[in-house]
Amino acid sequence: MKFADLHLHTNFSDGTWTPEELVLQAQKGGLSCIAVTDHDTVEACERAAAACAAVKMEFIPGAELTAEYEDTELHVLGYFLDARNKKLLAEIAKFQAVRQNRIHEMVARINELGVPLKAESVFALANCKSPGRPHVARAMVKAGLVKSLDEAFERFLKKGRPAWVPKSKISALEAVELVHHAGGLAVMAHPGLNRTDSIIPALVSAGLDGIECFHTKHSTAMSERYLEIADKYHLLVTGGSDCHGFSKGKPLIGTVKLPYEHVQKMKEYRSKETAAPSIATK
Ligand SMILES: [Zn+2]
Ligand SMILES: [Zn+2]
Repeated sequence: MKFADLHLHTNFSDGTWTPEELVLQAQKGGLSCIAVTDHDTVEACERAAAACAAVKMEFIPGAELTAEYEDTELHVLGYFLDARNKKLLAEIAKFQAVRQNRIHEMVARINELGVPLKAESVFALANCKSPGRPHVARAMVKAGLVKSLDEAFERFLKKGRPAWVPKSKISALEAVELVHHAGGLAVMAHPGLNRTDSIIPALVSAGLDGIECFHTKHSTAMSERYLEIADKYHLLVTGGSDCHGFSKGKPLIGTVKLPYEHVQKMKEYRSKETAAPSIATK
């Protein structure tokens, strides 16, 4: 039986592996197909695609967009994205500028608390255009300012903590539209983590294509619940480990194995959409 992992991060966002290292691990884990879904960027896709081609693994270019709906943050996964789509790249440049400003703000607040963290050290460690809180936490550990990533989050970075800075995000409906504009399928990420079930109908009307039923942090009961929801709204079913490499202990790759038939359904759905433009513009 063939398996896929459709939720993976590289060091182009807050993962620790390069695209090539990720593909090597996917190969070791016996996966037949992977999608790279870095936060607010598609930069890793070209290298990951080349690395997959070299080992004859199927690759799906993706991204995980940070979005919000009525003040609730949620993540929208895009699959089969055209990683060179102009509008997508322009929006990504804006997301990245927001992320970089947010790092400066968080560091300023940390400094106000008497902790001498330097923004440059965060950017140097992140070494990517989509820096985020995990990079701030890692830079704090590296500088010896806290003992662990957990301490950095608990004392400073968690929502409601003194260095937490809200992030301006695009609306979830715009995220779905952007994914479609770039030729992709829009999928709601880890709904069990966000507790945002009430907004699913609105996303479905906006053209949501699928829902991530299988995720490392979903219990079996949660997965079953979202499989029922997928069935009810005729949504595609996806799943992935949300592996960030070695960022938090043992790598998660391989902990969620999506049966390949779901990838097959995504591809069939796409080919139907291209054949019938009326559905594509729903
Ligand atoms: Zn997420
Ligand atoms: Zn993720």
